[in-house]
Parts: sequence; C-alpha cells; structure tokens
Amino acid sequence: MAAATELTRADELRAFGELVAGCTKCALAQGRTQVVFGSGDSDADLMFVGEAPGFHEDKQGIPFVGAAGKLLEQLLGTIGLSRQQVYIANVLLCRPPGNRDPMPEEIEACEGHLWRQIELTQPRVVATLGNFATKLLSGRPTGITRVHGQEQETTLGGRRVLLYPLYHPAAALYTPRMLEVLQSDFARLPELLGREVAPPEPVFIAPVTAEPAVQLGLF
Ligand code: URA
Repeated sequence: MAAATELTRADELRAFGELVAGCTKCALAQGRTQVVFGSGDSDADLMFVGEAPGFHEDKQGIPFVGAAGKLLEQLLGTIGLSRQQVYIANVLLCRPPGNRDPMPEEIEACEGHLWRQIELTQPRVVATLGNFATKLLSGRPTGITRVHGQEQETTLGGRRVLLYPLYHPAAALYTPRMLEVLQSDFARLPELLGREVAPPEPVFIAPVTAEPAVQLGLF
C-alpha cells in the first residue's frame, strides 16, 4: 500500500498561494499586475504583516521589495536575521491604485487570506507594521503611535502568539525620530522570540447542581 504523503507547511502555503493567485473578491483584482502572496520561511517563528503591495511589489509579486523593504531588511540585519528566515505578508494581497490606503471592504474581502497564512505558518511572534495591520490583528481601533513597542498575548490562527506593533518602515524612511523608535522597538524582537507564550487559561465551567427548593426560601 502506498504511504500517505504528508504535506509540509511549505506545500500547504504554496497550494494556498496558487489558489488565491486568481482571487477576484474585491475590485483591486482589476488593477493589479498580480496577487502578492506572503514570502519567506513557512516555519518562521517571526512573521511581519504590512499594509499592501506598492508599485515594486505589484510588479515583482513579492512583498516588501521596494524602499520600505530595504529598510526592513536592514532592521532584520541588526537582530541577525535575513528576510529568508522570517515570513512577510500584508493585509491586502493586491496593490491599491496610487498606493492609497486600503478600504474597509478590501480589508474585509482579503483578511481571510491573511488569517489562513497565519494558521499555516504558526508563528510565535507577529509584528504588525503600521496602523492597518495593527488594528486588524489586535481587533482594536487604537493607533500605532499609542501601541508601538507594546507586545500583547493574543490568539491568532488558533494559537497563542505575541502580537507586537511596530511603526511601518515606509513611514520611518522619511522621519528620523520614527526611525529611531522603530530601531529600538525592533531590538526587542530577540527577547520576545525567546519568550514562552502561555496556553490559554482553561475555561472553568461550574457544574450545575440542583439546589434543594428549601434553600431558595426567604429564611
Ligand atoms: N508596504 C507594505 O505595507 N507592504 C509591502 O509589501 C510594501 C510596502
């Protein structure tokens, strides 16, 4: 009897990438060159989530290959990692025209693709880059200026992870003060990667016992 072939995470991610390559869930499908699926190590402990592909990403089909991507690679270098050792994804898989902000209906149409990538990669730390990824994955409206550098334990893709909001490298490119903050937030990543994330607390459900009717009386 032929042995059942086990699919690796990389196989599953590749298959999922092929599936979404023809996505037409939102109007961005009409203007894109191609879908920009996540890239990097499918077994990575560290995942980055950016906003949406820009001009270069749309042309090359790989996230973070433009100026912001170069800065992300430099920052990774400061903690001894390369982009091949992490997984990099975006909230949107298709480029919004003129690099405008993602629209709520686009995020809604696309978020399932991101959740599935998180489920398949099973990272331990998810670093959100900028407002859109941070708000989506934290489920909270608080902006990046208030929450950057503050890790929080949460459940993503069915597993406990540390969510770690960071400034978007594109914003830091032109604002030296923001770059300093991003560099110092980035420097904490090795410590966060070494941290044990506690499994969720078991939910205690008290057994329902029948009370004798007399106890309900007004003594
Ligand atoms: N900015 C993003 O958020 N994602 C990319 O892939 C490139 C730039």
